[in-house]
Amino acid sequence: MRYYDKLIFDLSHPGRTGYSLPSDFACGQVSCSDLPENLLRRSALDLPEVSEVDVVRHYTNLSQMNFGVDTGFYPLGSCTMKYNPKINEEIASHPAFAGLHPLQPAETVKGAQAVIDGLDASLAVITGMKHFTFLPCAGAHGELTGLMLMREYHLAKGDTARTKVIVPDSAHGTNPASAAVCGLEIVEVKSGADGLVDVESLKPLLGPDIAGIMMTNPNTLGLFERQIGEIARLVHECGGLLYYDGANMNPLLGKVRPGDMGFDIMHLNLHKTFSTPHGGGGPGSGPVGVGERVLPYLRIPRTSGFHGNFGVMMRAYAYILMLGRENVKMAGPLATLSANYIKESLKDCYKLPILTVCKHEFVFDGLVNDGAREGKAGATTLDVAKRLLDYGFHAPTIYFPLLFHQAIMIEPTETESLETLDSFIEVMRRIAAEAAEDPDILHGAPHNAPIGRPDETAAARNPILKA
Ligand SMILES: *Cc1c(COP(=O)(O)O)cnc(C)c1O
Repeated sequence: MRYYDKLIFDLSHPGRTGYSLPSDFACGQVSCSDLPENLLRRSALDLPEVSEVDVVRHYTNLSQMNFGVDTGFYPLGSCTMKYNPKINEEIASHPAFAGLHPLQPAETVKGAQAVIDGLDASLAVITGMKHFTFLPCAGAHGELTGLMLMREYHLAKGDTARTKVIVPDSAHGTNPASAAVCGLEIVEVKSGADGLVDVESLKPLLGPDIAGIMMTNPNTLGLFERQIGEIARLVHECGGLLYYDGANMNPLLGKVRPGDMGFDIMHLNLHKTFSTPHGGGGPGSGPVGVGERVLPYLRIPRTSGFHGNFGVMMRAYAYILMLGRENVKMAGPLATLSANYIKESLKDCYKLPILTVCKHEFVFDGLVNDGAREGKAGATTLDVAKRLLDYGFHAPTIYFPLLFHQAIMIEPTETESLETLDSFIEVMRRIAAEAAEDPDILHGAPHNAPIGRPDETAAARNPILKA
C-alpha cells in the first residue's frame, strides 16, 4: 500500500490540528458563547485529527484516483463526453448568476430570464422546434415529460384509445423505461440487417391505438435512418406523434434538424451535446422542445422549481454563443469524421458488424482474434475495456447496444486532436495483439488502477459510502 492510500482516519493523531479558531470566534452576528446550552454538543465530533498538509494530500490524491474528461480521452459511446471549456465554468459561476436566490421576485432576475430565453431561441434554431421547456433535469426526465405531452395532445382531442408507443429494438434503454413509467404499452419494431428501422415491419403496427413512436436519428448504432421522411408520414397519417430522443444531438449540430425530419417532440441532453460532461451523477438538464402540433400543451412556466439546473443551462448558452452559428456547424461533421477515422483504423483487429459510414459513434463486436485456444479462454470485451485503463484511456461503452454480444461502442468528440485519436488507435491495436498472444494479460487487467474489478452489482446494491 502506498502511503497516501491510507484513509485519513488512519493518519489521525490525537491533538494534531490543521486549523484552529480563536475561542471568541464569531460567525456573523452569533458567537459560540451566545448559543443556548441545549443546542451545544455534549461530546466531541469523531473527526480525524490531522494537519493541513495531510488534508490537502488526502483530497488531492483522492481527486487523482478518478478518471475524467479533464484527465484523458473518454470515448464513452452514447454519452458524448465532451470537454467543457473552462470559460463556461467561469461564466456559470459568475456571482451575478450564482448568487441569485431562486425565490427572488421575477423583476430582479431579468438577466437570468434573458439567458433562458436566449437558450430557448438558440435551441429552437438548432433543432427546428418552436419552444423548449427547461423543467426536466435529465434526459430520461425529458422523455417522461415529452411522453406526457404526447398523451395530453391525444386526450385533448378526446382520443383515449392511444395507449401504445412504438420503440425500435435498437433504442436506448431509457426509452421503453420512460414509456412504461408513463403508463404506455411498448411495441417493439425490429431493425433490418442494415441496422435501420424496417419500414415494412413498422406498417402493420400502426393504427388507432398508437400514441406515437420514439426514435433517435442517427440511431443508437450511429446510423442515419434514411427512411425517416417516410416513417414520419406513416406515423402522422395514423394519428400518432414522433418523439425524438435528442440525447445524442452532437453529430446533427448545424446539419440536420429533428423538426425538419418530422418530429413533434424531443429532448436534448445539455449535459452531453452542450458541453457539460455526462456521468458521475452530476446535475443534468434535459429540456423538451415541441413543434407546432404540441405547442399549445407546453406548460408555463417553462422552468422547474428553482429554475432547473441553471448552471448547466448557463454552460450550454455560453458554449453556443462562443462557437457562434458558423462554428456550431463544425461540431457534428468533426465528431463524425473522428468516429469514422477510428472505425476504419481498427476494423482489421476488432469485428465490425455494420460496415457503412457511421455518425458520431459506432459499434465493434469484440476482437477478431481473442486468443482463445485449447484450455484457454479468449479475451472478452470487458477485458479490453479494463486493459485500456492501464494505458490511460477511459473504457468505451460496453455490452450496449444489446444487439451484439461483445459490443464495444466508441464515441470520440470533435474536441479530440488527431494525435489523441492516433494514440488511442495505437493502444487498441496493442491490446488486440496482446489478446492474440496471451489473453491472460487482459484477464488480469487493470494492473495499475487503484481499484481492479469491483463487483458492480454489489457496489450498486450495497454501496459502502464510508469507511
Ligand atoms: C444518455 C441518454 C439518455 C438518458 O439521459 P440521462 O440524462 O442519463 O437520463 C437517453 N437516450 C440516449 C440516446 C442517451 O444517450
